[in-house]
Amino acid sequence: MAYFRDLSPYQYGHWDVVRGAQNVGWLALGHTFQTGQALQSDLDLLWAHCKVAIHATRGLHSCEFCSDWSSEGFRVMRNGETIVLGYSEIRVIGPSGQSYAAPSLIYHYIDKHSYKPPDVFVAALRTGPRPPSEAYFEALKTRELEWGSTVR
Ligand SMILES: [Zn+2]
Repeated sequence: MAYFRDLSPYQYGHWDVVRGAQNVGWLALGHTFQTGQALQSDLDLLWAHCKVAIHATRGLHSCEFCSDWSSEGFRVMRNGETIVLGYSEIRVIGPSGQSYAAPSLIYHYIDKHSYKPPDVFVAALRTGPRPPSEAYFEALKTRELEWGSTVR
């Protein structure tokens, strides 16, 4: 998977430029990242975002920090729900409209590899519109983003 520095401008692919979005969580081997313990409440919020698949056409990528890998994608469970990570992005949108583009694997990176995302990302997660609220999907529409579901 491509590596992008946290908070660098999001501009991935020729057909997709989202004005103002910043990259978060595009980790790769050979690039160090900050670690810390995430709150379960933040993981719950992130999980809700990870159920919404944005740009789901980029093929599968696995976690470079794990050895287990299936061609069917990266199945993850939380509270009895199963979603598939590794083939789509998520968008976290802050209260004043700033947005953050992350690979769906960010949930796994935080949960299993103690990746600590930037504070502004966590703040947006906690205070911005969140799925499945109407405000959240309106914000995606405004950005001309299409979405699907990762829930299996
Ligand atoms: Zn991993």
